[in-house]
Amino acid sequence: MECRHCGHNLVHSFADLGSAPPSNSYLSEERLNDAETWYRLNVLVCDKCWLVQTDDYVASEEMFSDDYAYYSSFSSSWVNHAKNYVDLIVQKLGLNENSNVVEIAANDGYLLQFVKGKNIPCYGIEPTTGTANEAKKRGIEIVENFFTEKLAYELVANEKSADLIIANNVLAHVPDINDFLKAFKALLKPNGTATFEFPYLVNLVDNIQFDTIYHEHFSYLSLTSLTIIFKNNGLHIYDIEYLSTHGGSLRVYAKNQKYSKSNNESLLLRTAKENETNLGLNDLNYYFGFIKKIEKVKNNLLKFLINAKENKEKVIGYGAAAKGNTLINYSGIKSDLIKFIVDKNPNKQNKFMPGSKIPILHPSSITEYKPDYILILPWNLSDEIINEVKSEYYSEAKFITAIPELIIK
Ligand SMILES: [Zn+2]
Repeated sequence: MECRHCGHNLVHSFADLGSAPPSNSYLSEERLNDAETWYRLNVLVCDKCWLVQTDDYVASEEMFSDDYAYYSSFSSSWVNHAKNYVDLIVQKLGLNENSNVVEIAANDGYLLQFVKGKNIPCYGIEPTTGTANEAKKRGIEIVENFFTEKLAYELVANEKSADLIIANNVLAHVPDINDFLKAFKALLKPNGTATFEFPYLVNLVDNIQFDTIYHEHFSYLSLTSLTIIFKNNGLHIYDIEYLSTHGGSLRVYAKNQKYSKSNNESLLLRTAKENETNLGLNDLNYYFGFIKKIEKVKNNLLKFLINAKENKEKVIGYGAAAKGNTLINYSGIKSDLIKFIVDKNPNKQNKFMPGSKIPILHPSSITEYKPDYILILPWNLSDEIINEVKSEYYSEAKFITAIPELIIK
């Protein structure tokens, strides 16, 4: 396979997780006996532009079908994060009622509701009908489509150019990263800014967050690779921020290269790039050896679950998130080890996890079942989940997180 960015031949594996069904293909009871398609899940690194990327391509149509079940508003901490971001960026860029804000992958309007609340004109781009409809119910204009360079030029022709384009947790999800970035360049006004948030590769490696690897997630991003990739697509990164979301993310600020001085780089950005060079992100050795750490996480979790079963202790899971599917399918866990998984999202309840076919239930099942242990799959939301379960459902259970190491509390 060739590198998605530079076309160089990819030969170096970073994390080979075997194969898995698409992470968001939750199964209804009627579909439970149907065959599932398992796709190869191997992540490679390009030794020319350092883009870390999955080696397979699952058609976008399959992954973003209408029953694609992720609604951003179901996580209160994520909504809060969006609100804080809007407050910060409106002030930073001096946005007002004459500005135009665009969010790519606007989901259910979890973020743009706050832009609209400040009377700043905005619209979202969102290919998934279910979430787009939720956003429209909030009175937010949505262009129901994938964001491509072609679409960007159509929007520009309709006077829909942007002072700010927001791309939170979407850059890693696009298969054609070059066309996607060219679309930003096209849609931005000359002085416009685009911000991108994505899980940071350095955190992924440091904290063994291999469960953030799934098919919908095509790229694993560092500044070392992005500096090259943005530049080749006409964008200039001028600032960054470190974020605690998703176990450690980066927010990158970029402008059209044509209107941005190349020496205009914040001190934090320059320091972060130096840090990556010191860590060796432009050296293959950095990427090798990751798989051994992954295997250790898997082995420790399996030992714990088998032990619990032999001691007749009851274990369930919390949060039927995509990352949970990677951990569960890679570890080969089925409902004999984790009886069921609870999730607040009604679109997932009474369905089954892809691959493992573990049932997904309403959180009130915790009260009834009285588990000894609850494995928290979205470990980034662990505090929020523990508080909620203790106060609303059952206070006696112990909580487990498996990544970066097995912790029981
Ligand atoms: Zn490359």
